[in-house]
Amino acid sequence: MARRMLEMRGVCEKCAAHLNDAGEALICSFECTFCVDCGQDMDHRCPNCGGELVVRPRRRAQSVVGQQGVAHFGVVLRNRKEFDALVARVNASGVAWITRPELHTDPALSAKVGGKLSDPSGNVIELKYYEDVTDLERG
Ligand SMILES: [Zn+2]
Ligand SMILES: [Zn+2]
Repeated sequence: MARRMLEMRGVCEKCAAHLNDAGEALICSFECTFCVDCGQDMDHRCPNCGGELVVRPRRRAQSVVGQQGVAHFGVVLRNRKEFDALVARVNASGVAWITRPELHTDPALSAKVGGKLSDPSGNVIELKYYEDVTDLERG
């Protein structure tokens, strides 16, 4: 049996207030959707079908990934020279960076230098390389 997803309507049918998937909203069994304030005003009765309005389960924002940035392809260059050469070519081509290359100083990221750009199909590509620690030690 196909599973049907609850339709997460984005606005209150009464006052047109914006409703967040992860926020509070009230629905009836037909998925008429209202904001909490309107639901209280209407005594938790749906004006369309007369049904009971209940708290809509919240849908987790898709953005556990979102918080870390979008899913993307990665290109890892072997060294700074290759990386700089590629960055120069991207700059020369006029492609806009989503995130300009920068040195991440967070030690957990092992001094990664990376930049993100988008290809013509909208795929996000990350260019990066990792500082060679032994080079740093040699100065
Ligand atoms: Zn409302
Ligand atoms: Zn209803």
